[in-house]
Amino acid sequence: MHQLTLAEIARGLADKKFSSEELTKTLLARIAQLDPQLNSFITLTEDLALEQAKAADARRANGESGALLGAPIAHKDLFCTLGVRTSCASKMLDNFKAPYDATVVAKLAAAGAVSLGKTNMDEFAMGSANESSYYGAVKNPWNLDHVPGGSSGGSAAAVAARLLPAATGTDTGGSIRQPAALTNLTGLKPTYGRVSRWGMIAYASSLDQAGPLARTAEDCAILLQGMAGFDPQDSTSIDEPVPDFSANLNGSLNGLRIGVPKEFFSEGLDTRIAELIHNSIKELEKLGAVIKPISLPNMQHAIPAYYVIAPAEASSNLSRFDGVRFGHRCENPKDLTDLYKRSRAEGFGPEVQRRILVGAYALSAGYYDAYYLQAQKIRRLIKNDFMAAFNEVDIILGPTTPNPAWKIGAKNSDPVSAYLEDVYTITANLAGLPGLSMPAGFVDGLPVGVQLLAPYFQEGRLLNVAHQYQLNTDWHTRSPAGF
Ligand code: GLN
Repeated sequence: MHQLTLAEIARGLADKKFSSEELTKTLLARIAQLDPQLNSFITLTEDLALEQAKAADARRANGESGALLGAPIAHKDLFCTLGVRTSCASKMLDNFKAPYDATVVAKLAAAGAVSLGKTNMDEFAMGSANESSYYGAVKNPWNLDHVPGGSSGGSAAAVAARLLPAATGTDTGGSIRQPAALTNLTGLKPTYGRVSRWGMIAYASSLDQAGPLARTAEDCAILLQGMAGFDPQDSTSIDEPVPDFSANLNGSLNGLRIGVPKEFFSEGLDTRIAELIHNSIKELEKLGAVIKPISLPNMQHAIPAYYVIAPAEASSNLSRFDGVRFGHRCENPKDLTDLYKRSRAEGFGPEVQRRILVGAYALSAGYYDAYYLQAQKIRRLIKNDFMAAFNEVDIILGPTTPNPAWKIGAKNSDPVSAYLEDVYTITANLAGLPGLSMPAGFVDGLPVGVQLLAPYFQEGRLLNVAHQYQLNTDWHTRSPAGF
């Protein structure tokens, strides 16, 4: 039963082949048995899951239907969950129980999804390896010595290991697409504003966006349908109609113009990954797509711009964790300054502290113009590059990551080398565009992802292309040995 996709589960539940309660019990047992190897969950909510599963079965018995009704999922541990620990994988919030559900959590619960628990992640979503969690590193089910990618690494590892069919993630600079690539999943970062950020603990508010991680594009369509939509409680949510993603998966790719930016194949890309990406291009050509070489000339400035803007916003967002209002408070503070200093020094891990320092520096009076303002100008140039490219093409395609999953600990002494792994994903966040990563093959037994980017609000186009690709390839069906 654990091999079933969301789409298959929906059919199985509708045909009464099994109940949501049976499925939920099976997956909870599987998590108890296998997750100790992976560390993909921070909190399991067995009682809540069984309650939700029974309620979903009752709704089905009453004639209700719906692709998510009774479907098991899990939430990255930065979505607020009423009465359930919401830790952001930080000591700072180790004891924090949210007083309300995030919009994404509430919407999925209303659709009948069954939440099995909260998944591990990089602390405050800062990272590309899921090594910075207060609860320990997450392991890649394809090779337990390797990272699963981050920051949504717990969601990715759990879905890849068939502990559950799909999970939520968030993507500020690649944290859905990159772990999807490194664990052989399909992951989608929606257009900025497509999915509500209300109740999602903020890292960099102008970049953060929630989305689905699943094994197929078909399942991403189902989960995204339950997440997307206007939310008056999020001032950056956009009131744009949400199409029926599942109904639009079967469009023909005949004549689809795919732009391949030369900057995506420059120095630093593993040549074996480049070859797999070229194979996926050939596959899409067979389906009728037309390939056009394009250029995104300002791409080389994306990493420096992102690593100013994201920490700047983080330093502001994380100022609320002051030992007074939320989370960890130090013992016996001497005075208010000591309370602030020690609570934050004890509560935040080294990567989070590094980002806060960099961000506060970039925003400080003497340096604001030199760093933050420059970075914002680059951001506009990158967006303009995309706008020009999308006048010529319908989709942009390239690798998701320059390398396959690295060994746990390999980049610990050199944070910048980890930042460089984000080179292909962060441009979509800087521009606010939707992006998807899907399986494209293996290098040394480790999965590789191909990335698709589309114009604003064209998530449906990404899912359509990915679904057609997956009907004609079988990379996404491979599962890691031992799981
Ligand atoms: N690796 C990037 C960072 O650390 C992106 C993380 C994310 O998307 N949350 O900022």
